Formats: sequence, C-alpha cells, structure tokens
Amino acid sequence: MAMLEINDLKVSYGMIEAIKGISLEVNQGEIVSLIGSNGAGKSTTLRTISGIKPAKSGSIVYEGKDITKASAMSIVKDGISQVPEGRHVFKGMTVKENLMMGAFTRKDRDALKADMEKAFEYFPIIKERLNQDAATLSGGEQQMVAMARALMSQPKLLLLDEPSMGLAPLFIKQIFNIIQEINEAGTTVLLIEQNAKQALTISHRAYVMETGRITLTGTGAELLTSEKVQEAYLGGA
Ligand code: ATP
Repeated sequence: MAMLEINDLKVSYGMIEAIKGISLEVNQGEIVSLIGSNGAGKSTTLRTISGIKPAKSGSIVYEGKDITKASAMSIVKDGISQVPEGRHVFKGMTVKENLMMGAFTRKDRDALKADMEKAFEYFPIIKERLNQDAATLSGGEQQMVAMARALMSQPKLLLLDEPSMGLAPLFIKQIFNIIQEINEAGTTVLLIEQNAKQALTISHRAYVMETGRITLTGTGAELLTSEKVQEAYLGGA
C-alpha cells in the first residue's frame, strides 16, 4: 500500500475546475515531483492534501486513513507538513519563534530541542540568526527557515511548493541537496517545482500536470530523457 493515495481528485474554485480528476501515489521513502506550467494545478493539489482547500470529489488516503475531509490541524498531527509557496515566514517574530510555531502540536520539549539541533545541522545559517526578525532574512534564508519550521512538526511526509523559486543558483543547489538529505534521513517528499531539471534529477518518480490533469508519469530518469518533457519543460535541452 502506498503512503499517500490520491484517487480521481477534483477541486474547484467557484466555477473553475482547477483539478479535473487526478490519481497519484507516493510510496514511503520516495521523493516524488509534480512538474508542469503555471496554473496546471500543482499548488492546488498540495493545498488539498494538507487540508487547506476542500476537495470537490475523489479521495486522499494517507497511511490507510481517508483524510479527504480531515482538518489541516489533524493532517499535521498525522505527519504531513507543507512548506507553502513564497515561504511565508512569520513577520515580527524571530527565527526561533518561527521554528517553535512549527512545533505547536508537540509537547515533548526534550525531543523538540533535539529536533531544533538537527535543523541547525541542515541549515547552519539559522543558528546564527536565531534572534533576528525572520522577515529581515534573505529569500534563501527564509526558505531555509520555512523548511526547518516544517521539519519541527516531525513530518513523515513533507510537501514542498516551489522551494527553489526566486533563489540564487548557489542557494538552489543547496536546497536540492538538503531535500535529498532530509529524504535519506527517512522523510518522504512530495515536491512541486518549476525547476524541472533539478527536481527530476533528485526524484524517484514524477508526474507531469497540465491544466488540471496528469498527462505523464515515470521515474525521474525516464522523464528527464522524455522528448515531451524536454520540449515543454527543459527548454529543449
Ligand atoms: P503556479 O505554479 O503558477 O502556482 P500551479 O500549477 O500551482 O501554478 P494552481 O495555483 O494550483 O496552479 O492553480 C490552478 C488553477 O486554479 C489556475 O487556473 C488558477 O488560476 C486557479 N486558482 C488558483 N487559486 C485560485 C483562487 N484562490 N481562486 C480562483 N482560482 C484559483
């Protein structure tokens, strides 16, 4: 059984059907990418999984449990954590306070401290900036805080929405490396990316979305060499 199973999911914004019946699965231990152009429905898919946006029909089953209608709070408690597009660090709060917000469902203070130390290992820069207002960090640093914050809820499944967006090349490389390290340490990852080449390179499997539908799926390596993907998303490279 897959860790996450999405079956014939449909999601609408008023009259606009953003997701027109998609099915996909994520197995434990995998990095799975969703690639596709702007407006394809990738963010909507993640927001529906995390309980922020309600589904119109279809089902989302996580670890054998139907979470299609579950609240965002209970979904976090079940082990799914999302890093939203645009990062959204909490302004007017220090980096440390931001990290603690990620742990709001937890009461185990000792383990929490250990997890914060682990976050510093992935993102050493965070430790130097703990008492700084998170909003004053650079884009790349804010991305790291947002990812560290998501890790503080000890997710089994991490949902990442465009983690490389707007980042300098050096930061992009670093973020992809860290995603791989987080995955190797046992966290399953569902990743949305415009940066298709890098996403496919680190992904076990991937799905291509076009206007609310999944049009292609395969291993990361298969899609990297697919003519269709190369033409549409890799600039014919
Ligand atoms: P992007 O990379 O640009 O975020 P995406 O693949 O993540 O694209 P979505 O953001 O999921 O796409 O959008 C899917 C469709 O739903 C688009 O047609 C978009 O205009 C529409 N949409 C998204 N959010 C809303 C909203 N709050 N109200 C109305 N329509 C929306």
